Amino acid sequence: MPEKRDYYEILGVSRNATKEEIKDAYRKLAMQYHPDRNKSPDAEEKFKEISEAYAVLSDDEKRRQYDLLGHAGFDQRYTTEDIFRGVDFESIFRDLGFGFGDFFRTFFGGFGEGGFGERINRGEDLVYELEITLEEAAKGTEKEILVPRTEKCDVCGGSGASPGTTPRTCPTCNGTGKVQHTRRSSFAMYVQVTPCNTCHGKGMIIDSPCKNCHGTGLVKKRRKISVRIPAGIDEGYQLRLRGEGEMAPNGGEPGDLYVLVHIAPHKLFMREGDDLWYVLTIGYPQAALGAEVTVPTLDGPTTVHIRPGTQPGEIIRLKGKGMPRFRGYGRGDLIVRVGITVPERLTPRQRALLEQLAEEFNEEVKHKKGRFGF
Ligand SMILES: [Zn+2]
Ligand SMILES: [Zn+2]
Repeated sequence: MPEKRDYYEILGVSRNATKEEIKDAYRKLAMQYHPDRNKSPDAEEKFKEISEAYAVLSDDEKRRQYDLLGHAGFDQRYTTEDIFRGVDFESIFRDLGFGFGDFFRTFFGGFGEGGFGERINRGEDLVYELEITLEEAAKGTEKEILVPRTEKCDVCGGSGASPGTTPRTCPTCNGTGKVQHTRRSSFAMYVQVTPCNTCHGKGMIIDSPCKNCHGTGLVKKRRKISVRIPAGIDEGYQLRLRGEGEMAPNGGEPGDLYVLVHIAPHKLFMREGDDLWYVLTIGYPQAALGAEVTVPTLDGPTTVHIRPGTQPGEIIRLKGKGMPRFRGYGRGDLIVRVGITVPERLTPRQRALLEQLAEEFNEEVKHKKGRFGF
């Protein structure tokens, strides 16, 4: 892929250009390259390029991020869809006398869901943050959550019309919610589609609105939803529950519910991918002489063999005692890291034995506490 050009350079403005200067520059270039006017083969590409530059530089936050991150960083963070979302091209094109709607939709490959003025009737997506324990993440679980969201009104069944009445089809647009204006200029014909003014794009007219939902057909509710958490799920994973988001007005498609999973810190284990870490502390004699010790695992305690001469920081891997692989087979490991404890207080007998041991190893120690009276 060729290196992307700098957005300021594309619009021919300075890095500290004002919003007006940026808009002005874009209008001039759009006049020149809009495919309705310019039929040269690279006009489309050029038009796409200037529109993208305008989408970024006309938005304070996107512009700040672009200035900060440069192209490479910015492109990692923003998809083409993000870039064009919410940018008001419509009014600019209308001003310039260009058509909008269908043309733009095909032009940008249809990714601008609701981005170009004409909104698709779909409910909002919701995010619910859910904290579970490591044990629940290991075994998988089912959780009931209470999600506040808009739902169909029970009184009118979502129609928005008071009981006993029905909404009627809008006579202006015949229920499509849209009206087409055809305009002819010296060199082309434009078809412009705008929302119907009579019904405000709804396609229906409600003469007597439902009192419970004020004619919207929707009410706020707290909905109990059961979520199945698959075994092995990790911190920050989002489960998508299709159609469990906000309901859309006028019988549109509901949004999705994203359950963002957090895993509470565990008092014994630290997770690293599918592996778990556990710090085992043993005494110096155990490390030196070897021992059988008990180590906790997610499945209950197990016995671990400590070989004679074990060093501090040594690692013992318990195969298959970690987390189950998320949507896969098998399990990670439990990694036991050995720490050696040093006693902070000693009985006189322990002290005597350790001093004897030090002597045996020819290690010089500061000993004979008490001789100088402290
Ligand atoms: Zn209602
Ligand atoms: Zn209408």
